Amino acid sequence: MTIDRRNFLRVSAAAAGVAAAGCSSRQYRPPYPPQKATLNLSCQEWLAVGDTLPEKLDFLEAHGYTGLEVSGRGLASRIGELQRALSGRTIRISAICAGFEGWLIAEDPAARELAVKSMKEILTAAGELRSTGLIIVPAFNSQKSLPHKESRELLLTLLADLGDHAQTCGTRILLEPLNRREAYFLRQVADGASICRDVDNAGIALMGDFWHMTWEETSDMGAFISAGDYLHHVHIASRKRRKMPGEDEGDNYIEGLRGLKMIGYRDFISLECGSIGDKKDTVPAAAALIGEQWAQA
Ligand code: MG
Repeated sequence: MTIDRRNFLRVSAAAAGVAAAGCSSRQYRPPYPPQKATLNLSCQEWLAVGDTLPEKLDFLEAHGYTGLEVSGRGLASRIGELQRALSGRTIRISAICAGFEGWLIAEDPAARELAVKSMKEILTAAGELRSTGLIIVPAFNSQKSLPHKESRELLLTLLADLGDHAQTCGTRILLEPLNRREAYFLRQVADGASICRDVDNAGIALMGDFWHMTWEETSDMGAFISAGDYLHHVHIASRKRRKMPGEDEGDNYIEGLRGLKMIGYRDFISLECGSIGDKKDTVPAAAALIGEQWAQA
């Protein structure tokens, strides 16, 4: 979905009004499909072919991509460069991929404070770039964290603050469930959606990554339906080796894409993967494969 800042704020204000009237979003779920789904392809910056940012954007636009996903690291210093390069093009910034310091559910309060501070700095830059949202992981397995119950309770408090900041910037936090080898705390899309529901803040949303979903979900379609209107970004990769979609035998996303259609998904599906073949060939081939399977879904 193309984020319109004014529309985003209007929806946020409406949600706040509903909450103030005593009817929380927990009780309100829009009927599906709330809108006709659209396929919007995005690619992480490092995967695009070209020596310069304008060359990368030329390459992506030529092959049907309308979104560019960039890292959050040092984003504030890149706002001007990105805005100049994107001016007059159809392609726009999709999500911002992490790049923050610390982690939110850390046992060490200093690491938590660092996470909140650096996430807010990236959210401010993300808003300037009219991004869909900042992708975050509450903690990786290697990061020493509080016990699960305390982590979840703390996360709701921290996300409420981050969500308020995100809303003032016109963007969002995007929680990303990972597979158990990377992060045990948040592994399934429905669990992420329940966190979004509990925080009940329009600045807190969710994404799904087909790669992680391969290992954690029993149904791609069920996972996306459970996320509903909390879902605002999707990552995609091949299903066996996390390479370009189509590089593993039997790469099939149709059931998940059908789920996205059912919830009226209009945000980006973004490449986050390696590539075995030459990216000049595999990035266009991935777009073609996703387009074919979207049509079949
Ligand atoms: Mg991902």
